[in-house]
Amino acid sequence: MLKGKNAVVTGSTSGIGLGTAKELAKAGCNVILNSFTDNEDDHALAAEIEKTYGVTARYIQADMSKGEACVRLIEEATKALGSVDILVNNAGIQFVAPIEEFPPEKWDAILAINLSSSFHTIRAALPGMKKAGWGRIVNIVSAHGLTASPFKSAYVSAKHGMMGLTKTVALETAEVDITCNAICPGYVMTPLVEAQIPEQMKVHNMSREDVIREVMLDRQPSKEFATVEEIGGTAVFLCSPPARQITGTSISVDGGWTAL
Ligand code: NAD
Repeated sequence: MLKGKNAVVTGSTSGIGLGTAKELAKAGCNVILNSFTDNEDDHALAAEIEKTYGVTARYIQADMSKGEACVRLIEEATKALGSVDILVNNAGIQFVAPIEEFPPEKWDAILAINLSSSFHTIRAALPGMKKAGWGRIVNIVSAHGLTASPFKSAYVSAKHGMMGLTKTVALETAEVDITCNAICPGYVMTPLVEAQIPEQMKVHNMSREDVIREVMLDRQPSKEFATVEEIGGTAVFLCSPPARQITGTSISVDGGWTAL
């Protein structure tokens, strides 16, 4: 369905980013994987995608906390594939603490990676999309782009900011065949979520199973994690012809969380 299109997925060596890159490749897209590391495993992931889906896939190291690296990612991706038609802004980190104890450097890092990186990648990718007359921007936001939770001040602020960025870019590109949308996942079992379990077990003095059901999935009425394939499949839909008039909005994939 997306054969011949070229996609960049930021933060795509694990979790939702990797799942989305695979779903795009399954739909025929060439893909650029990205993270801040540069080791053999990163390049091996791209080689595996090439082999499995018969598309071109490359890994480009770029630290999404740095504006100039975000721009370089788009430049190198354009050189490698010829264009960037689809941009998935996915890179993100989390830190949980009451605001009085929230380390200012964690605030800065979360704002840089979870929000500002998308400003820089979109800014760098749009001229090429406008020239080509086609582009799809998908921002991986969160239920926390629509609602808040305690102890996640930086994450919730960055994700709410992403919703504003999504709407603004959509308005600025509305008359071209370019769309910009957000996907708002609830809890998806990825390394980012897995890493929160031990801390939550300590704080709540609960077993792993109880933390998952009573704490994490407490607000997710389906009582199930969403999967990376479901998030990636939603991204593919947003890039597909029936989604042409969908722009400046969000799709929640959260088992009913934001309906509560
Ligand atoms: P993850 O930790 O599995 O993956 C994050 C990816 O980002 C990794 O590939 C990591 O290497 C990369 N990354 C981190 N810092 C980076 C940097 N400075 N530069 C480049 N890459 C960097 O996390 P995930 O759960 O897959 O989350 C992906 C996105 O989905 C994030 O934006 C997150 O906020 C969002 N999200 C996740 C969930 C969830 O439940 N997992 C829910 C809602 C939203």
